[in-house]
Amino acid sequence: MARDLGTKFVCFKCGTKFYDLKKPVPACPKCGADQREAPVAKPQTARQQRAAAAKEAEEAEAPAVEEAETEDEEDEAEDAGDDE
Ligand SMILES: [Zn+2]
Repeated sequence: MARDLGTKFVCFKCGTKFYDLKKPVPACPKCGADQREAPVAKPQTARQQRAAAAKEAEEAEAPAVEEAETEDEEDEAEDAGDDE
């Protein structure tokens, strides 16, 4: 365990675990992907998941308000029919 293999990586493309061996470019030995170009994909915390869920709920509620307005228009149409 005396050898310093450098920084450990898990390839973002193929999932291969490897060490960069202190090379300037941490490239996957299997698929050659440059790990510096890996997309930032942090695991979500419970708080972030709840925040995302709350945001989705807000967006889902918006159409419901429009439906309520449509009902009002239908009531007006019924009233107009009663006048005839
Ligand atoms: Zn790879």
